[in-house]
Amino acid sequence: MLLPIVVYPNPTLKKKCEPVLCVTEELRTLVENMFETMYQAPGVGLAAPQVGENIRLLVMDPNASEEQKTPRVLINPELTLTGETIRSEREGCLSVPLGFRADVMRSSKVHLKARDLDWNIIEEDLEGYPAIIVQHETDHLDGTLFIDRISRLRRSLFDSKVKKWLKKNKNTR
Ligand code: ZN
Repeated sequence: MLLPIVVYPNPTLKKKCEPVLCVTEELRTLVENMFETMYQAPGVGLAAPQVGENIRLLVMDPNASEEQKTPRVLINPELTLTGETIRSEREGCLSVPLGFRADVMRSSKVHLKARDLDWNIIEEDLEGYPAIIVQHETDHLDGTLFIDRISRLRRSLFDSKVKKWLKKNKNTR
């Protein structure tokens, strides 16, 4: 089932999410729906708060656009930034409207601890594109969007565009 994606400036996106305590049938269904929604969007990652669930859960697939998919579920992910600071170019987000993209500074590597759907502990080092995606998605669980990491000037220009867009949408409804 496709889930509606929560879009900025919806305040839900700013909330810090609660840890997942156990895997239930309900959670498995949510994960299935999140994958369907992410691939359809299309996107390479989706965090639970983006579909209105304020829990520490994310799905991702760096190869979402390839035939050979590599879906991953991360529950209660914890990151340690272990690389050097690099520029993640033209980052975007399914929850950020108007197709806005901007460069964001990220760590080139991360050490990841999380649980999978079988409640096994995952512990590994990621680098490259997967490292960038997991940083972007884990940010969502702390109520942070990539637009919170861009310059104040770019952000205020974007916010005024969003304001105009919201006003226009309101008028056409
Ligand atoms: Zn995002």
